[in-house]
Amino acid sequence: MSDSSLGYRVPARVTVIGAGIVGLSCAWSLQEHGIEVCVVDRARPGSGASWQNAGYVSPAICAPLPEPSILRYGVRAVLSPRSPVSLVHATDPRLVRFLAAMVHSCRTSTWRRSMAAYRALNERVVDSYRHQLDGGVSMELTEGNVIACFADPRESSGFLHEMEEIVGAGQAAELSLLTGDEAREAEPHLSERVSMAVVVRGQQYLTPSAYVAALAKSVRERGGKILENTPVTAVERRRGVLVARGQGDGLEAEAMVVAAGAWASNLLAGHGVRVPVYGGRGYSFTVAVESPFRSPLYLPVARVAVTPQGGRARFAGIMEFGPPDAPSRPARIVHMLEAAQPMLRDIDWSTKADDWMGARPLSADGLPLVGTTKTPGLFVAGGHGMWGMTLGPLSGALLATQIATGVVAPELAPLDPCR
Ligand SMILES: Cc1cc2nc3c(=O)[nH]c(=O)nc-3n(C[C@H](O)[C@H](O)[C@H](O)COP(=O)(O)OP(=O)(O)OC[C@H]3O[C@@H](n4cnc5c(N)ncnc54)[C@H](O)[C@@H]3O)c2cc1C
Repeated sequence: MSDSSLGYRVPARVTVIGAGIVGLSCAWSLQEHGIEVCVVDRARPGSGASWQNAGYVSPAICAPLPEPSILRYGVRAVLSPRSPVSLVHATDPRLVRFLAAMVHSCRTSTWRRSMAAYRALNERVVDSYRHQLDGGVSMELTEGNVIACFADPRESSGFLHEMEEIVGAGQAAELSLLTGDEAREAEPHLSERVSMAVVVRGQQYLTPSAYVAALAKSVRERGGKILENTPVTAVERRRGVLVARGQGDGLEAEAMVVAAGAWASNLLAGHGVRVPVYGGRGYSFTVAVESPFRSPLYLPVARVAVTPQGGRARFAGIMEFGPPDAPSRPARIVHMLEAAQPMLRDIDWSTKADDWMGARPLSADGLPLVGTTKTPGLFVAGGHGMWGMTLGPLSGALLATQIATGVVAPELAPLDPCR
């Protein structure tokens, strides 16, 4: 370690556990500070939630999950087998603990406090991506208006209320309402069933798998190591160094970052992190389209996002609270497809392919966990839930600066992992 002007001892090398968008962004930003990195993943880069998610980079709608209406909606929803929300292994004690903590956070006052933290982050999202782009990470980040579509205008009240709260918290968001015909003019794939839409202007989207692969390539090209198929079973501090235990002797480093997505809590026991992180499993698939979608769409009643991916469109949705490694349930994809189908037209559904399941790393209080643990040298970057693609590059950059300087950015104060 070297001494910085602040008297903080800067690690020369950092091991990052987890090669999703958050771990890779952190590693990439550490390299910006001249710190050597080694990223280890139990499988390969992007093998968690970061691979085939919806790919919205959408700060205007990026907000904490726990809020009072999800209690009303959630209880009704989990009782219906076709609902977009469900529980896997309902008796898992970790799920019970997670849900109890999340229910505790479903209060308007808590949501508003958390939203203030999100707002401060959201303001910097566009710059965080621009910084990676300027630094040589190749990505196709496309500008687009998110169109939220409804069959019946009365169905829009929940979404509009949520947007009112977000804007009321000071979040910049440019909204407009469209009739069904206007919505079809903006996006010809919308069917006659759509009778109104809410447009959230000036957002962005990308193909996550291509972006994560480019980020991993950039980390390697800048001299970073990425060790694949290297599961870590525990992290401990021994004789002044951190040891990531796994196969063989384990890996030693002066500083480590746990960026293990929905698996993070497995590695954080005993390090003073009390907020549980649990899997919010989602599913996606693609279909081929002759004329590409013009805009990302959101179907709030079905809870499905549709993202243009050139000659295909990706459909993503479902929230299954469950362990990330429990078998995926293909019926969920069928339910998602059936819920989205009536709202769309001119799609050859027989071209459906690329079925995928990934677990969002949900923190029980809805705030990411980014910062130090009680164990010296051990940091966390995770718990971004529904919004890791939007916030990942920024979280990685802010944590890297903290590791490189010892200074905690004001945006990170509410994300203290030991809160
Ligand atoms: C259906 C769906 C749609 C989504 N849509 C969006 C969206 O449109 N916009 C948005 O902002 N976000 C979206 N998200 C959320 C986003 O995908 C996640 O928040 C984000 O990918 C989390 O990134 P991460 O790096 O923290 O975790 P992950 O990508 O899960 O990465 C964690 C990595 O850690 C590795 N790992 C775990 N345990 C260990 C261990 N013990 N040892 C070594 N390695 C380990 C895993 O193999 C994995 O590669 C969506 C998620 C889903 C499921």
